[in-house]
Order: sequence, then C-alpha cells, then structure tokens
Amino acid sequence: MDKKTLNTLEKMLTDEKAKLEEELSRFAQRNPNNSEDFNADFPQLGDKEDENASEVAEYSKDLTLERTLEASLRDVNKALERMKDGTYGTCKYCNKPIDEKRLMARATSTSCIDCKKLFTE
Ligand SMILES: [Zn+2]
Repeated sequence: MDKKTLNTLEKMLTDEKAKLEEELSRFAQRNPNNSEDFNADFPQLGDKEDENASEVAEYSKDLTLERTLEASLRDVNKALERMKDGTYGTCKYCNKPIDEKRLMARATSTSCIDCKKLFTE
C-alpha cells in the first residue's frame, strides 16, 4: 500500500474516532482509567412517576447506543494500532493484503473479501 493511501485511511480513522468520542460525550462520561470505556449518564427528567419511567427508558436506550459506539471506537483504535505496528491492511486470516477499495469503504476491515466469506469478523 502506498504512503498516500495509508495517510488517507489514517485520516479517515482519526476523523471517525473523533466523531465517535464526540457522540459518546453527549450523554456519557469517559472512564478516567480506560479511554475506551464510557458510562452513560442517568437522565434526570423529574420525580413524577411518568418522568421516572421515561428516565429508565431513555437510560436503557443510551446504554444500547453506548455499547454500539464503544465497539466501533475499539475497532477504530485497533486499526490505528495496526497502522503503528505495520500490520494494517493485511488479512488476519491469510496474511494477504486487503483490497484497498475494501479498506476505503470500511477502514477498520481486518480480513480480505475471500476470508470474510468464510469467517465472520
Ligand atoms: Zn484473507
């Protein structure tokens, strides 16, 4: 993979990371001991019974979103780590280079299309 493509992909991943962290920080606090762990705030809407019910409903929605965003953030961080150690863009199953078009479409891909068909990421 040429340097220019790698730089483009690194920029995509860095932007994605910033976007995910921004989204998470809207409703969750970052764990000071683990930069990949966020904890959703419990919403405070009021003390009436229907307000309490809405708080619980909103909190459970936030927790689901938190888990989805955290999982994506971990994938992005792992991809950035692979760029540092030079294993980025190599299929984790067959060790062949992953098609650049595939990486452009999904910069966190860890397997080539052939292996993707055989295994699930
Ligand atoms: Zn492969």
